[in-house]
Amino acid sequence: MKILVINSGSSSIKFQLFSMKERKVLASGLIEQIGEPLGKVKLNSSHHKEPVTQKLAIPTHEHGIEIISSFLIDSKIIKSLDNLDGIGHRVVHGGKFNESQLIDDNIMQEIINNTPLAPIHSPANIAGIKAAEIEAPNVPQVAVFDTAFHQTMPPYAYTYALPYDLCKRLHIRRYGFHGTSHKYIAEEASKILKKPLSKCNFITLHLGNGTSAAAIKNGKCIDTSMGLSPLEGLIMGTRSGDLDPAIIFYLERMEKLKPYEIDMLLNKQSGLKGICGTNDLREVQDKMSSGDERAKLAFDMFCYRIKKYIGAYYAILGRVDAIIFTGGIGENSASVRYQSCKDLSHCGILIDKKKNDKNSTHIESRSEVKILVVPTNEELEIAKLTEYIIQKNSKAN
Ligand code: AMP
Repeated sequence: MKILVINSGSSSIKFQLFSMKERKVLASGLIEQIGEPLGKVKLNSSHHKEPVTQKLAIPTHEHGIEIISSFLIDSKIIKSLDNLDGIGHRVVHGGKFNESQLIDDNIMQEIINNTPLAPIHSPANIAGIKAAEIEAPNVPQVAVFDTAFHQTMPPYAYTYALPYDLCKRLHIRRYGFHGTSHKYIAEEASKILKKPLSKCNFITLHLGNGTSAAAIKNGKCIDTSMGLSPLEGLIMGTRSGDLDPAIIFYLERMEKLKPYEIDMLLNKQSGLKGICGTNDLREVQDKMSSGDERAKLAFDMFCYRIKKYIGAYYAILGRVDAIIFTGGIGENSASVRYQSCKDLSHCGILIDKKKNDKNSTHIESRSEVKILVVPTNEELEIAKLTEYIIQKNSKAN
C-alpha cells in the first residue's frame, strides 16, 4: 500500500509518501509561504541524491498539492496521485471523535463545525483536504485527529469547573493535543519493555516547540496537560501553559489590551521566549552556560513545570512503568530530562546522569520507573492509522 500523509498549515504543506509494507518513506517535502508573492519548495525522494528546491509563487493549497503530484509523477514513484491507496490528513481538532475517520460529506461537515475550537489550524486542515480531493478524487482520504487519543479521559478529568450547561452548549472541555505522538511513543515503549500496551502505565512527555504530558493507564489516556486549546499545561517555546485566568482581566484593565492582543501575548510572546527572549531551547542552554540569569530562570521554570506534572500523573496512575520523553527537546536535551527527573527516588524514579547523557533509550535497571527516550514519528502513525481505517472500511463494505 502507498499512503500519502499530508500536514497542512495555514501557509504550508508538509508531506511524506510511505510504502506501508516496508514502512519506508519514498518521498517527502515541505511547501512553505503559500499565498505569499514567493513560496518555497523542498522535495526529497529515493530517486534524488540532493533535495529539489524551488522558489515560485504558490497561490493556494491546491497549487501546493499539484506541485507534490507533479514531483511524485516526474520521479516515477507513482503514475498519478489518483493511483495512491490512501491519503491521511493530520487534523488538529477532532471534537468528539475518538478515532480517525474516513472523510465523506458528513465527516467534512463535522470538521468544519469544529473550526471555532481551532480557528487557526482547522481552516488550513480543511484547505489541504479539499485540495487533495480535487487532485485525487478516487483515493480514500482519512482524517487523523490530534485529539482522538485523549478521548478516553474520564469526565472528572476533562470537565472544567465552569457552569455545566454553558460548557455543554459551547463544547468547552479538555480535549488534549499531540495525541498521535503520545499514542505512537506509548506503543513503541510497550515493545521496548516487552509488555502488552494494555498492561502498561506511562507518563508520556512530548517536548518540542509545543509541549504536553499525558497519563496513560493500561494503554489508554486518562489525563493530559493541554486543554480546550494547545495553550494549557507545560511551559512551551512561546506559549505560557498554565496560568491564573485572572491575569487576563488584569492585563485587560492595566494595559488596555484587546482579547486578540492577549491571545497573541499568551500564544506567541510567552513561554521560554517571554522569559529570556528565545523560544529555542538550544539557545536558552547556550545563554545559560554564558551566565545569562533569565535563561537559567526560563530553563528552571520549564523543568519545574514538567516535574510537577510527573508528580501529579504519578499520583493518579499509582504504578508507573515508564516516563517517556520525545520531541526535539525530549529526544535531545539530556539536561531537561535530568533536571525534570532528579530527586524523585522516593517515587521509584532514578535517573542515571551518564546513561541519560547518551540521548538514547536506556533501561535503568535500578529504577523502578524506567526512563525512556523514544523518537516520535507522527507521520508514520498517521500512515498506519490511515491504512487501518481504509482496511476496516473495505471489510465493512
Ligand atoms: P520540535 O518542535 O519537536 O521540532 O522541537 C523543537 C525544540 O527542540 C526547540 O526548542 C529546539 O531548540 C529543541 N532542540 C532541538 N535539538 C536540540 C538539541 N540538540 N538540544 C536541545 N534542544 C534541542
